[in-house]
Amino acid sequence: MSCFRPRGIRALLRVSLRGLFLYNTGMTAEEKKSVAFFVDLASSQARGGYFPGEREYCFSDDLKADDSLVSQVNPDKITADIRNCKACRLCETRKNTVPGEGAPEPLVMVIGEAPGADEDSSGRPFVGKAGQLLDKMLGSINLSRESNCFIANIIKCRPPENRDPQPDEIAACAGFLECQIQSLKPRFILCVGRLSSQALLHSTEPVGKLRGRFMDCKIAGMTIPLIATYHPSALLRNEDLKRPSWDDLKLLRAALGPGGGK
Ligand code: URA
Repeated sequence: MSCFRPRGIRALLRVSLRGLFLYNTGMTAEEKKSVAFFVDLASSQARGGYFPGEREYCFSDDLKADDSLVSQVNPDKITADIRNCKACRLCETRKNTVPGEGAPEPLVMVIGEAPGADEDSSGRPFVGKAGQLLDKMLGSINLSRESNCFIANIIKCRPPENRDPQPDEIAACAGFLECQIQSLKPRFILCVGRLSSQALLHSTEPVGKLRGRFMDCKIAGMTIPLIATYHPSALLRNEDLKRPSWDDLKLLRAALGPGGGK
């Protein structure tokens, strides 16, 4: 749980939990599990958002440290928790939550900003004009939500009038995205737009400064190569952004190797 601000208390809690896993504390596995449960609970309280419930930690002595840190999160449970979420004001105005959709073991996780009107009505991500362009962009490098991508947003509910999500709304939803990444384990992340790029890279730089190269995204106990690019709705407004966006997609295609996403 190391992706979104506020980071101080959460980082401390996660470090404590890491210590519990990595070092012989003289505690039994049951005792460690109890402590882990309370650390997770406190961590999600500090975040003020989603608590995925008790995780299935494994404390076997012969597990490698990295394996023992990452527990499995059930994707259906995450979706159900998103559907029931009332952690912020957006639950009052949404028609549907938009958890995300795509391949269960994606090569690429595409992360956008927030659902718009079409997504709110259908409960599916990127189904409006921007979504149709996104599908074409992905298709040009042999990627699709049907075969090898998972598409989600940093915010699972539509902000009224399509306003930018507010920081507390992003924070309340952050745990969902983190659990989705933990469960899907994508090989690459493609962030489309400023908000998702900034959130996942802990940056305040404009997307024009973040795009054009791979960066490390440290999240959910993993380090995943992330490439940022312009949001498809920005491309619909400004033709000049299409060329740099295509350059970003070519970088992703090259990283995917021969055959691209096939
Ligand atoms: N824009 C986004 O960022 N996400 C969607 O799901 C639709 C439009």
